Amino acid sequence: MGFLDIANVTKSYGKLEVLHRVDISIEEGEFLVLVGPSGCGKSTLLGMIAGLEGISSGNISIKGRVINGVHPSKRNIAMVFQSYALYPNMTVAQNITFGLEMHGVPKPERDKALGDVAKLLQIDHLLDRKPGQLSGGQRQRVAMGRALVRDPDVFLFDEPLSNLDAKLRVDMRTEIKKLHEKLKTTIVYVTHDQIEAMTLSTRIAVMYKGYIQQLGTPKEIYDTPANVFVATFMGSPA
Ligand code: ADP
Ligand code: MG
Repeated sequence: MGFLDIANVTKSYGKLEVLHRVDISIEEGEFLVLVGPSGCGKSTLLGMIAGLEGISSGNISIKGRVINGVHPSKRNIAMVFQSYALYPNMTVAQNITFGLEMHGVPKPERDKALGDVAKLLQIDHLLDRKPGQLSGGQRQRVAMGRALVRDPDVFLFDEPLSNLDAKLRVDMRTEIKKLHEKLKTTIVYVTHDQIEAMTLSTRIAVMYKGYIQQLGTPKEIYDTPANVFVATFMGSPA
C-alpha cells in the first residue's frame, strides 16, 4: 500500500471507456508525472483523484482510506490548472488566503501561512497587487501559492506551464523542482512534454489511449521502454 493508491480504476463516459484498469501506487513525497499525448486520459485521471470526476470502477485511496465518494473540499488535495483562474478583483494576498477564510481559519493563522508561502514563492512584494498587474509567471506563482497555503496531502498539477513562453517554462520548471525538494510534498503532475516529465519526476507513468503503457523511473523509461509507443514517444535511442 502506498500513500496515494489508484487501484484498478476505470472511467467511462456513457458507453465509451476512456481509462482502462489503471493501477498506480504512489509513495509519500514522490513526484509522479503522467505523460502522454493529448486525449490519452491524463486530465480525467487527475480529475478523479481531485474528486471532480466520478470513478466508474476501482478505488482511489489516500493513506489507506478510500476516497471515491469524498467531496473534493474534504480530500485535502490541492490542484493547479493550466488556466490559473485567479479572482481579478482580489489582491494577491486575498487570492491566496480566500480558501483558508472559507474554511474558518482565523486571521493570525492566515497571515502566518500567507507570509510563509509568499516567502517561499518569492512573491512577498506582490501581495497588494491585483492579478491584472502581474506577469504570466507571477500569476502562476500566485496560483501555486493558493494551493500550497492549504498544506495539502497531495498536490495535483495539470499542465501548469503550457501557457507560458519557453524561457519562463524552463524557469518555472526549475522552481517547481526546487519546491518539491524543499517541501517533499506528494505530487502528481500532468504534462504532454517529455522533457518536463524526465526532469521533474521521481517516476513517470507513460499513458496512451487510456492505458498506462509503462510506469518507472526516468532512467528505466529511457533505457528500457516497454514497447514501441513508449520508445517513440519518450525518444529512447533505437
Ligand atoms: P488528456 O488530458 O490526456 O488530453 P482527457 O483526460 O482530457 O485527456 O480525455 C481523455 C478522453 O476522454 C478523450 O478521448 C476525451 O475526448 C474524453 N473525454 C474527456 N472528458 C469528457 C467528457 N466530459 N465527456 C465525454 N468524453 C470526455
Ligand atoms: Mg488534459
